[in-house]
Amino acid sequence: MPSLRDQTDRILAELLAALRREAPNAADPAGVAHDLEVHQIELELQNRELRQAQQALEESRDRYVDLYDHAPVAYASLTGEGRITQLNLTAAQLLGIERARGEGLFLGTRLAPGDGRVLLSSLGRVLSTGEEESHEVGLGRPPATRRDLRLTIRRETPRPAEATPPTCRVILSDITEITQARAALLAERHFLQSVVDGVSDPIVVIGTDCRLLLMNQAARQAANVPVEGRCGLPCYSALNGRDAPCDSAEHPCPVPQVLAGGLPVKVVHRDLWADGRTHWIEVIGSRLLSHTGEILGVIESSRDITEHLDLTARLQARELQLAHLAEHDPLTDLPNRILFADRLRQAMRHSHRERRKVALLFLDLDHFKSINDSLGHATGDLILQQAARRMRTLVREGDTVARMGGDEFTVILGALTQGSDAGLIAHKLIAAFDEPFEVADRLLYVTASIGLSLYPDDGTELETLVRNADSAMYCAKAQGRNTFRFYTEDMTAQALAQVALESDLRQALARAEFVLHYQSQIELATSRLVGCEALIRWQHPTLGLVEPGRFIPLAESTGLIVPISAWVVRTAAAQIKVWQDQDLLTDSAIWINLSGRDTQNPNLAATIAGICGEVGIDPGDLAVEITETWIMANPDVAAENIRRLEALGVAVGIDDFGTGYASLAALNRLAIREIKIDRALVAGLPADPGGRAIVRAVIALGQTLGLRIVAEGVETPAQADFLKAEGCGIGQGYLFSRPLPAAEFEICARGASRNGP
Ligand code: C2E
Ligand code: CA
Ligand code: CA
Repeated sequence: MPSLRDQTDRILAELLAALRREAPNAADPAGVAHDLEVHQIELELQNRELRQAQQALEESRDRYVDLYDHAPVAYASLTGEGRITQLNLTAAQLLGIERARGEGLFLGTRLAPGDGRVLLSSLGRVLSTGEEESHEVGLGRPPATRRDLRLTIRRETPRPAEATPPTCRVILSDITEITQARAALLAERHFLQSVVDGVSDPIVVIGTDCRLLLMNQAARQAANVPVEGRCGLPCYSALNGRDAPCDSAEHPCPVPQVLAGGLPVKVVHRDLWADGRTHWIEVIGSRLLSHTGEILGVIESSRDITEHLDLTARLQARELQLAHLAEHDPLTDLPNRILFADRLRQAMRHSHRERRKVALLFLDLDHFKSINDSLGHATGDLILQQAARRMRTLVREGDTVARMGGDEFTVILGALTQGSDAGLIAHKLIAAFDEPFEVADRLLYVTASIGLSLYPDDGTELETLVRNADSAMYCAKAQGRNTFRFYTEDMTAQALAQVALESDLRQALARAEFVLHYQSQIELATSRLVGCEALIRWQHPTLGLVEPGRFIPLAESTGLIVPISAWVVRTAAAQIKVWQDQDLLTDSAIWINLSGRDTQNPNLAATIAGICGEVGIDPGDLAVEITETWIMANPDVAAENIRRLEALGVAVGIDDFGTGYASLAALNRLAIREIKIDRALVAGLPADPGGRAIVRAVIALGQTLGLRIVAEGVETPAQADFLKAEGCGIGQGYLFSRPLPAAEFEICARGASRNGP
């Protein structure tokens, strides 16, 4: 339904139209009135339109004011001096003032200290240039809490009619939440950067296009090029200064694989550092996904694993070393018993399949104990090492040389077509000891004895083979050492016999089974009897007369030698008493042999003195022979014993001279009276030039020191003649007499005295 006003307007308009239609003559007074009436209505209509327009204007201004006042944006108009000329309610509310009091107020007073100046200078610029400006300022002064404002300042177009000074329209936006969110974002970003920077391993993030997106502190330091501002460049150029992607074996790139496969990929880079060292860098690439699961790029974390690799290598080496140690002898680096057993079983299995033979050689150094005792373990060790090297070079690659402990070695020779082939190697091994060992500027001669057993002939079990080779080795020793023997069945019997011998030896003294034989010593120039050597024999109840070579080492190793030596001293003392009473050997002595144990015995001189006293002879009627190796075993104790014996009147001689290792200087300090040239040196005379030279030297030495010089083992007149010619005073040997029981010696001695001058 049309409104009342509309109806009124319509009625008036119709009325006006009707009046115009009537249009009376102008000269007619009624017409004038009519015209007036029309005019009035027209005016009324115009009035009404005007009123309507005014009302519309007011309505729209009200709407505008309302809009302006309640707009969600805070507006204010400011003079160039920052004074508020107009502000909407929102602005008043934002500034925390009543609108009425806002007009004329300097906005700067509501802003944070310092920001008023920012505002003023901006207003000045905007007014003069007309260019809009925007500033972030603080709203409120302490103690009020600060809020963040953005001021957008724009010049207001002045109305031409107005003469008021120019103003700026300012939009005040409260951006506190935005700045807080922004600060939080920054803090978060900073925190995350700190986290990645805090990781000591280099981390870089690379986009799918290989461009560098992010790197941590460590990555910056590790890069091969200065990295400032390098984000956005291809990673290979940003990080390594390369022109092309890394794809070499030294620098494999994990990115394509990670992008294709999805799983983390590990690669290792090899880098040569400025310090010349090669560094190994482990690079692990993994995918970087957005929250929607889209692939953003690759995270590469790398780690210098050089030290780790070094350490691993060292650990592995150590493990290998430990494993090696478990199976090898630390001194010679040869396989030990454990590995030996393993190798022997292996060789047996192998040879069984191939229908071949295995030879087991058991090698023992001769008289090694005396080297150890006389020259010390360090020297002994050096000899063992050299011996091990010599043996190693003589066998094939696949053969085994092992050290069983002490001076015992084994050699496994596998895949032999015939057992006798092993004899060749045994021979070579023995010959390998012909050359002297050079230890601390000395040349030492050491020989070896070898026993051999064969698989399967002499046994199919490891233990049997070892036992049999060992028996064969003992047999080689018994047969003069420096040789080898193949195992034979009766050797087992011999080995058993050895065990039996030891138990018999323990009872031999009590059963009075020992006897002394005497061998005369002849002055070469005159053939006169000038003394004799007492040599022990064992009258065994079933074995017959046993040579000292078979039981003295046993007596020494079991300690039985001490009472045996005392028995020898007592027997020899009693014997010389008898002979002196019979006018035999009145001006010479009986030389007895002492063992190492005796020379180290601090009571030696006292024991001898005691026995001589009991028997009733002068200690000077006895003389003792000791070997140089025994002296060198403990030179101080030996020297003291020798001094005491000499003080007692007992002459001391050095036996087997020329075979041991005593230094001349050491001998010179000892109060000795005799040197005895070893049988082995005499044996080669006079043909052997080496032997000749040594014998000459020994004689010269003895003469210089004014010693009694005795050559033992003189078997031929030629030897005797040579020795006599060279100035050796005394000879002893089968040429003159074998060692004889006392009764026979007596007869011999009487004859010799009769034959003497
Ligand atoms: P030794 O002290 O070097 O004794 C010399 C050895 O040479 C003796 O052997 C003797 O029989 C032997 N012999 C003597 N003349 C000749 C010869 O012309 N040619 C050859 N080939 N040999 C000759 P034996 O009696 O068998 O004694 C061996 C070793 O036993 C001795 O060597 C000595 O070291 C030790 N021994 C002997 N009796 C005793 C003793 O009562 N006490 C101690 N502790 N050891 C003794
Ligand atoms: Ca002797
Ligand atoms: Ca000797």
